[in-house]
Amino acid sequence: MGAPRPPAASYVDLIGPALLRHGSEAQRRRFIRSLLSGEELWCQGFSEPGAGSDLAALRTRAERQGDTLVVNGQKVWTSHADIADWCFLLCRTEAEAPKHKGLSLLLVDMRSPGVTVRPLRQMTGEAEFCEVFFEDVRVPGDLLVGAPGAGWQIAMGILAHERGPVWTFTFQRKIRRSLEDLLRTARAHPAGVRALRDPVLRQRLTQVWIEVELLRLAGYRSLTRL
Ligand SMILES: Cc1cc2nc3c(=O)[nH]c(=O)nc-3n(C[C@H](O)[C@H](O)[C@H](O)COP(=O)(O)OP(=O)(O)OC[C@H]3O[C@@H](n4cnc5c(N)ncnc54)[C@H](O)[C@@H]3O)c2cc1C
Repeated sequence: MGAPRPPAASYVDLIGPALLRHGSEAQRRRFIRSLLSGEELWCQGFSEPGAGSDLAALRTRAERQGDTLVVNGQKVWTSHADIADWCFLLCRTEAEAPKHKGLSLLLVDMRSPGVTVRPLRQMTGEAEFCEVFFEDVRVPGDLLVGAPGAGWQIAMGILAHERGPVWTFTFQRKIRRSLEDLLRTARAHPAGVRALRDPVLRQRLTQVWIEVELLRLAGYRSLTRL
């Protein structure tokens, strides 16, 4: 209580619970302390150019070579990848398995040879998201979280934490506050008051309000399922 929040890119809320639930003793000992202290930053390697909403269509693969997994593929929209030390990477390890059952979660050192990060510049000038390319990246086999092929189930747990606590208590509130600030500012100026009488604008603002409310309720639904 009252403790400062960890930096946005620490991802303590996402990979932390996954390691506590599915990680090996060695993985928990290695990563939990630096996650909590914020000494090591993480990124989430899920989305790909052909796998957004349909996440299980992802094609980044990790092939076993002895005790090592060799990763090839591409991720996109990876927030903070340019400053991350580690990536929790969802990738295909079981080529023959049905698409949801062939995935595993790997912990990848972002300084490994073969990892290339390209920030994506947004129209705001900021570059929060990145593309990340993996070319023959060698990952020790003991950095696979849980059982091989259990990645989908682990990823759904991570996303439940993202939609539940993270979105409900941080982003949803920020978006709601921005909307309230916008309305307050508009009501304080004659031009804004006139604009707010416009039926098309009123309809659009109402739609935004409905979507923020849906986000809040969806967050609470995720919270109750954790
Ligand atoms: C702020 C932000 C940060 C992000 N950070 C990360 C990150 O760190 N790591 C990461 O892995 N990803 C990240 N993402 C990506 C995100 O989690 C989603 O995977 C991605 O935005 C959705 O994929 P897409 O953009 O390819 O859209 P698509 O999946 O192509 O969807 C495009 C549109 O089509 C609609 N649509 C898709 N399928 C259907 C369907 N079957 N029926 C009807 N409509 C459909 C969708 O609702 C959407 O409106 C981030 C996204 C945002 C906005």
